[in-house]
Amino acid sequence: MRNRNLEVAWHWSVLFALALGTVAAGQTVDWSSPLHYLNTSFEHASPLYWEIGSDGAVHVYLIYDHERSSPNRANGHWFFEIQAVPGAELTFVLHNFDNVWNGRRGSPLDNRTIGFISEDARTWRVIRLETTKDNCLRFGVTVRTGSLYVARLEPYRLSDLETLKERIAANPNVEITTIGKTVEGRQLEIIRIGRVEAPHRVLLRARAHPWEPGGSWVVQGLVERLLRDDADARRCLRRYCVYVMPMANKDGVVRGWTRFNVLGADLNRQWDRPPDPRINPENQALETWLASMVQQGRAPHLMIDLHNDNSGKLHVSRPDIDLEEYLAKMARLETMLREHTWFTEGSTTASFRNPGSIGEGLLERFGIDACVLELNANWIAGLDDYPSAKNWQLLGAQLCEALYHYFKDSAS
Ligand SMILES: [Zn+2]
Repeated sequence: MRNRNLEVAWHWSVLFALALGTVAAGQTVDWSSPLHYLNTSFEHASPLYWEIGSDGAVHVYLIYDHERSSPNRANGHWFFEIQAVPGAELTFVLHNFDNVWNGRRGSPLDNRTIGFISEDARTWRVIRLETTKDNCLRFGVTVRTGSLYVARLEPYRLSDLETLKERIAANPNVEITTIGKTVEGRQLEIIRIGRVEAPHRVLLRARAHPWEPGGSWVVQGLVERLLRDDADARRCLRRYCVYVMPMANKDGVVRGWTRFNVLGADLNRQWDRPPDPRINPENQALETWLASMVQQGRAPHLMIDLHNDNSGKLHVSRPDIDLEEYLAKMARLETMLREHTWFTEGSTTASFRNPGSIGEGLLERFGIDACVLELNANWIAGLDDYPSAKNWQLLGAQLCEALYHYFKDSAS
């Protein structure tokens, strides 16, 4: 035990010393900051460590999550509570955005990257951040009450999903089915909105990647709009039924990770083959559910996987198969999104391909018209506004109408 404690102590002292740029053992370290603590003890908070730099700034080192058997690693989520002397003005520098994505080095930051702050972790306001030359983010805050939450985007937690489920569970238009469990044993569900017998079926998945709350907010907006029980909602539900996997990567969301599941699987990769149930039970659950729907003759006609990125496009991946009918449907979907929602970002070019993504996999292996809809995490051009929970819920509500028209003359 003593050895292990020594080992741990040595580990942290070296990390600390390396970060300070010094390894002088026994050197005293002063503390004169108004900062008390960075609290990450709550749901969806991001793993990190920190120190006060010689510049007086609070340097926060976010912890990467890693893909297994791969050089890929990701940071892009932050969510923590600053506890400090009331009225303290603090400068923060966030580190570790040297990501590897699809085997290439790259940064998730650009000069439009924004963040959010909140006194109660419920009501958020946007702040602009400075992207530094060494790929860090710098920003200043005033901790008026002694507590201030900081986040990349307006968080959507597992508890937010549980609250939604409780609110809608008794509605006769809702069925919530458990389809499997995450690596850590959390139940995964499909929420059905509408009638099984509806002529068209659409599947939406959100939160394959934990840092991307946009999809969760969109799904919530769509579900609540369809359950409003007015003439428009009834008209939509006569035409189509919605199946939602609202939070695919629950373990990652709870732990405040960025991209992968807790065994290093990317839930938007390797859809070109059946998933390994030991490593990727989240995709296995969806695969099993899909196979059963196909077997019952009730395969979804359309699948949209919701994500966040810095550009906001509809990703239409092009595997090496006959794509004519699929591309026509994706063009139609883009048109309907443009006409009935605030979406203006357009779709990927004819040379775009992202092998193993869910769009390709479901198209090739299940014959489902599937695609990825990225939501711009920095700016919503169609609204001339920042992305927010409210604006994403609006997209979800508008999506009801877009789907109504998408399925109008569809042969499927
Ligand atoms: Zn994503």
